[in-house]
Amino acid sequence: MRIVVQKYGGSSVADLDRIRAVAARIAATRDSGRSVVAVVSAMGNTTNELLSLAHAVSAKPDRRELDMLLSVGERITMALLALALRERGVPAVSLTGSQSGIITDEAHADARVVEVRPSRILQVVAAGQVAIIAGFQGVSRDREVTTLGRGGSDTTAVVLAAALAADWCEICSDVDGVWSADPRVVGEAEKLEGLSLGEALALARGGAKVLYEDAVRYARDHGVAITASATFGPGAGSRIGAGAALGRVAVTGDTGLRRVRLGDRARQADVAALTAAGGRVRRSVGTTLYVDVRNAHGGMPPFEASTDEGPTSMVSAVRSALGEDAVATASATVALHGIAIRASGAEGDVAWWEVAPEDLDEAVRRLHAAF
Ligand code: ADP
Ligand code: ASP
Ligand code: MG
Repeated sequence: MRIVVQKYGGSSVADLDRIRAVAARIAATRDSGRSVVAVVSAMGNTTNELLSLAHAVSAKPDRRELDMLLSVGERITMALLALALRERGVPAVSLTGSQSGIITDEAHADARVVEVRPSRILQVVAAGQVAIIAGFQGVSRDREVTTLGRGGSDTTAVVLAAALAADWCEICSDVDGVWSADPRVVGEAEKLEGLSLGEALALARGGAKVLYEDAVRYARDHGVAITASATFGPGAGSRIGAGAALGRVAVTGDTGLRRVRLGDRARQADVAALTAAGGRVRRSVGTTLYVDVRNAHGGMPPFEASTDEGPTSMVSAVRSALGEDAVATASATVALHGIAIRASGAEGDVAWWEVAPEDLDEAVRRLHAAF
């Protein structure tokens, strides 16, 4: 069985016409002789709408109940897409994350995949049917529904590609691949032919939401090659995996950060509280932590000794070993002249500068022009 895993993001399945078009795309892949396992996101803005409902009834929604709610979004899409395929005469069966055997840890709203048991998917595929999988969700060992963090349908696709030994994993969205910067922010951004998984991880961790961090990390650790492409476009997309490397510096900005000043005591307890609340420490410089709070949903936890200094932003430049290239980082600093830089650093594939949220897009444009 030669299997292809395709993941369709929220904008690709935003309405029924697009769901039908995705069904046609899947049918075309199937006609070319491969079995298709399709992972779907929630339709359009559904996840945000579900989150708003939760926040309307609860200031700090319980994370278990949030998962029960948010996991519904992708389940709507999976059933509609299976119906659309059947309507075309293509046999298709939809499966939830739990039915797909995606086992996670217990961290509600920010769970990590710990095991994949794809027997149910393999049965569907062996019967000649298309398997449609609800992305972004799994089940913990004590049978609780969990979700994988915002953007986590990418993770579902990659873990399934590994477990099914798929020929490739195609992440389909509204943009043709990975670009040298967010094409919505930088008009001169260029499509990247290819990049390494390490470079892609640095970009994802820096806020480039075209690929989710956990998905890229899993792909790197399990040797999964990814193609990122536009669902409804002629472009060839970008190849992310062994043998590919950035031909230029890529730039990314991240707005979803908060700066936390660690107090003298109870540091471990405060960091543990941050993590339990869904915060991810992105960088730490001395006693300052930069924390991604996208999956926190209830704001910051109460600290014993630390201080939440509020929202902040970071612009990052990425290319293999860029952090060791003093000339590159120095010229970037010149390009950012006039923008207040609160802190900066460089390490491995990335150099970064902390800027005020209102300066972020301009910083991304200037940095991109400098490289
Ligand atoms: P999906 O819903 O299909 O998962 P996302 O919205 O999560 O899609 O990711 C696609 C978006 O990522 C694009 O619309 C684009 O604005 C943004 N983006 C940010 N940085 C980049 C980049 N370097 N290359 C391509 N897209 C990027
Ligand atoms: N629907 C989820 C989100 O909006 C997961 C995903 O789209 O990947 O974050
Ligand atoms: Mg996404």
